[in-house]
Amino acid sequence: MTKSDRDTTKAADFGHGIHIVGGGLTGYAAALALAEADFPVTVYQSRTPNKDTLRTTTINPSAYDMLKDIGVIAALPADALTPIYQIMVTDDADRDNTHDPVMTWDNSAQANQGAALAWVIGNAVLSDMMEAMLATHDRITVCQTDITGYQSRHPDYHHAAAALMTADDRLIPASLIIAADGRNSKLRQAADIRVITRNLGQSAIVSTVTMTEPHRHIAWQKFLAGGPIALMPMPDMHMASLVWSMTNEDAERLMKVNDERFAIALDDATDLTFGRITDIGVRQAFAVIPTHALWPVAQRLVLIGDAAHAINPLAGQGYNLALADVKALARMLMAARRDGMDIGSRQLLHRYAFSRTPEIATMTLATDGLNMLFSFGKRRRRLAGMGMALANLQGIKSFALHVASGRLFGR
Ligand SMILES: Cc1cc2nc3c(=O)[nH]c(=O)nc-3n(C[C@H](O)[C@H](O)[C@H](O)COP(=O)(O)OP(=O)(O)OC[C@H]3O[C@@H](n4cnc5c(N)ncnc54)[C@H](O)[C@@H]3O)c2cc1C
Repeated sequence: MTKSDRDTTKAADFGHGIHIVGGGLTGYAAALALAEADFPVTVYQSRTPNKDTLRTTTINPSAYDMLKDIGVIAALPADALTPIYQIMVTDDADRDNTHDPVMTWDNSAQANQGAALAWVIGNAVLSDMMEAMLATHDRITVCQTDITGYQSRHPDYHHAAAALMTADDRLIPASLIIAADGRNSKLRQAADIRVITRNLGQSAIVSTVTMTEPHRHIAWQKFLAGGPIALMPMPDMHMASLVWSMTNEDAERLMKVNDERFAIALDDATDLTFGRITDIGVRQAFAVIPTHALWPVAQRLVLIGDAAHAINPLAGQGYNLALADVKALARMLMAARRDGMDIGSRQLLHRYAFSRTPEIATMTLATDGLNMLFSFGKRRRRLAGMGMALANLQGIKSFALHVASGRLFGR
């Protein structure tokens, strides 16, 4: 790097400039939140991103407020968000009426926007909207660049900057790097951050299905041997987003059968709760491998979203947790700037990691625990059924709802 290069980079990348690696839903939300707080932000997106056109995300009230604060909710098309007014959870223990849920939360009597327990949105709609907002934001620069590595100190700036490495061997100096590069985070590996990975041999098949009965804004989930199945409401009353977790062997088998046979398997698994399945969209299988960084920070680097904690999708909470990361980090960076602190300082990043530990640990343990309890063997599922009946008691139900809504941790 020549002196004049360095001087230009210094002006562009230092001060309060923040570098975000990863143009997924987390990286985009972080860029918008920080740019709204008047930080100059550079986002690095892979040249070959995986466009997620199939999946939907269920966002809880706290995540909804966060997306509203950064202008995303107002920018979305009117029917992009499908409200959920009722959540039904059941298992496959023997009982007289298979349609009787073991646990329910029901706000359907007041069905209006304020009474929604959560909302479902297509990942593609959300990502496209945020991408468009990034493109026009004067505080955000988007670079189509694959980041290949990280160094804790930039050779030209010593402690004042870490470095991002690019495929064409550039070293970009940065006073703060936010790694939002997903479950297999390259930056996490380069920073030598240890992870706990729990591979229980499960995959989730995702698709969009059409049903003969309307979904009535119900989010429905059933715990089966091998993993839970969920149907989440979509804008069309007769369509739902399917997430069906099972053993890898079963997923491999079910990915190969034709739509007719898949529909029969689904009718059986769903007990025809919303009638018969008449149409099935494209199917895709995702490996379910919860991965959790032991401590999500390194020198001038912080992991957020799936790079820090890819949790089991059974509770639909992964992105909600990511938005909570963004909110907490943005708040701390604003306070640091106000107090004249270095925004990449060790003290600040460790404070952030410490503040996020209770919520991330609670959600990781809850989702892993539920999966273990339900997914392996009949006896365990009966036990779980008893637990769920207990959980239907008002106090426990309201505690679970507080955790799931993202409100328990004071957001
Ligand atoms: C089946 C399933 C259902 C789910 N349902 C829900 C739900 O209902 N509600 C919910 O809250 N969560 C849900 N989740 C979790 C949620 O999808 C994730 O938590 C969320 O998408 C994570 O986003 P992310 O941006 O952190 O990571 P990713 O989506 O993995 O994005 C990472 C981005 O980084 C880019 N990237 C990677 N490496 C580099 C690099 N070296 N250089 C530059 N760019 C790079 C990638 O191209 C990608 O764009 C679900 C997950 C699954 C698997």
